[in-house]
Amino acid sequence: MARTLPVILAVFSLSAADLRPVDQPAVKNRAPLVAAAFNPLPLTAVKPRGWLRRQLEIQAHGQSGHLDEFWPSLTSDSGWLGGTGESWERGPYFLDGLVPLAYLLDSVELKAKVLRWVNWTLENQRPDGAMGPVKNTDWWPNFVELKVLTQYYEATGDTRVPALMRRYFAYMAKSIDERPLKEWAIYRWGDQVLTIAWLYNRTGDAFLLDLARKLSRQGYNWKGHFADFQYPGKVTKEQAQLKTHVVNNAMAIKTSPVYSLFSADRSDRDALYQLLKVMDEHHLMPNGVHGGDEHYAGRSPVQGTELCAVVEAMFSLELATGITGDAALGDRLEKMTFNALPAAFDTQMWAHQYDQQPNQVLVDIQRRDWTTNGPESNLFGLEPNFGCCTANFHQGWPKFAANLWMATAEDGLAAVAYAPSEVAAVVRGGVRVKITEETQYPFKDRVDLRVEPAKAATFPLLVRVPAWAEKAVVEVNGKAESGVRAGAFHRIERRWQSGDRVLLRFPMDVRVTRWHNNSAAVERGPLVFSLRVGEEWRKLRERGMTADWAVSPTTAWNYALVLGDGAFQVKEGAVGEYPFGGESPAVRIAAKARKVPGWEMQNGSAAPPPQSPVTTGEPVETVDLIPYGAAKLRITAFPVASR
Ligand SMILES: [Zn+2]
Repeated sequence: MARTLPVILAVFSLSAADLRPVDQPAVKNRAPLVAAAFNPLPLTAVKPRGWLRRQLEIQAHGQSGHLDEFWPSLTSDSGWLGGTGESWERGPYFLDGLVPLAYLLDSVELKAKVLRWVNWTLENQRPDGAMGPVKNTDWWPNFVELKVLTQYYEATGDTRVPALMRRYFAYMAKSIDERPLKEWAIYRWGDQVLTIAWLYNRTGDAFLLDLARKLSRQGYNWKGHFADFQYPGKVTKEQAQLKTHVVNNAMAIKTSPVYSLFSADRSDRDALYQLLKVMDEHHLMPNGVHGGDEHYAGRSPVQGTELCAVVEAMFSLELATGITGDAALGDRLEKMTFNALPAAFDTQMWAHQYDQQPNQVLVDIQRRDWTTNGPESNLFGLEPNFGCCTANFHQGWPKFAANLWMATAEDGLAAVAYAPSEVAAVVRGGVRVKITEETQYPFKDRVDLRVEPAKAATFPLLVRVPAWAEKAVVEVNGKAESGVRAGAFHRIERRWQSGDRVLLRFPMDVRVTRWHNNSAAVERGPLVFSLRVGEEWRKLRERGMTADWAVSPTTAWNYALVLGDGAFQVKEGAVGEYPFGGESPAVRIAAKARKVPGWEMQNGSAAPPPQSPVTTGEPVETVDLIPYGAAKLRITAFPVASR
């Protein structure tokens, strides 16, 4: 029966096309929810172009587009398709990325896949309002499925979605006292409150406000956790708990700001900054993410970060940037997206790592110094260590693309992050406007915007100026704007005419930042650069349509940087067919370095970088640095040679 459904419902979604939320102004928070600085645009308002579209196509042609054809957790036995197999988080996780991927690419094949899954959920709600596989009694996977449905609704206008959600939340409100949140759901309650806000903004059902407050009381107190932070460094196996779990912490980035919409308590919103302060101090890595393998792992660059934590932190930051309007959060989002995200995959996105290391010189099966993870965690493969990341990684690129642009509180538009794209939205006065963004950012420093309102219209356009872009220039129709400040949104309010052009220049000087043991990382714009280490890929075993791989180094990696005048030579090239491929990276930096004898392997990883400065009598060589995301073997946190 399920096989015939996609066809029938494809007709349904066509007939609902004129209700598509994408044709409406962005939905704002409804009182008493607090107004956000920016509101998300409906899914498909932003269309990826250029290298970003290519990246999404790579993802679609890779595992994302085919995983349900061979991975047992997602085949037709899934409980989320009415089967008796996996009935917990994996189906919803997969869809949380497949839905935006399918609709952003407007892919007939992927949309048909989406419908098969979504229709099962929409058509099998139980009379009491419960949803999903009958054998699942955990609230948590439903949190994810509801996020899936909000995206699907925004892309299609399928009115079955709000109808199901109203019945479901009424059921939850009735049941939550006798069947309270447990285990993962206790720590991930922010994701449910988020969807409650989404529905409240569209229906105004007052019981939803009470439900959100109740969940906040049953949920873990993350605000208190970070106000009195107890984990300054790598935890022991005995200390590992759900509150030290890196994915829960990445998801918690959103929790206080999202809940602040309900509580109207400024200190809830600002709890985000206390989280970032203590997590940066004790667990931040040079690739922009917090260390956790899979519990708090400290700042040594040979500790890992789980891929689920990368994509969840990105989603949290997308939301938090919208709620606060804080440009610094957009900087963080870009750093993760352009570095830690692509690094965890092979170029063609058919294999991923569970844990990535900033200093990663050998990928194979052995016990590394993880807090709790197993010996397969840094393999590139189908499901190294555990299959959660296999199910969950899909949301990374598509949600980033969807959130490049947001609506501002004053009915304008904000460029929250940069990548080639096009946005179509309804702004002040109900005027439709299209903005085309041409750029090779983050590889190059120039962004060109072409503004095309359907008729002349006055509205604010906010452009994020990254904190590192101290010499940023913003020009409107060739005339430089005054008051451009690094680390803030620059606001341009004027009467826009079709064909107006905005040029952004974000000069990308090479920067050296300091890390564990006073090591140095090399950054340029939002990209982090790593020593290119020769890679020998070895297939360990076939895994259905893909395989598991080990990677061994074929060149030396034990270099210290020689800093000083002329230390770095930047060379820009074209963005290739694989934007984060290592074969012909779009940017490379020639650097001066000396080998450090005695800096060797330790437990399958490079030993932590020796305390800098280091003394070495080895000759100065020129080494090749390439974007972190392209270097599957690499050194990122370098010792620094004394002069
Ligand atoms: Zn995972």
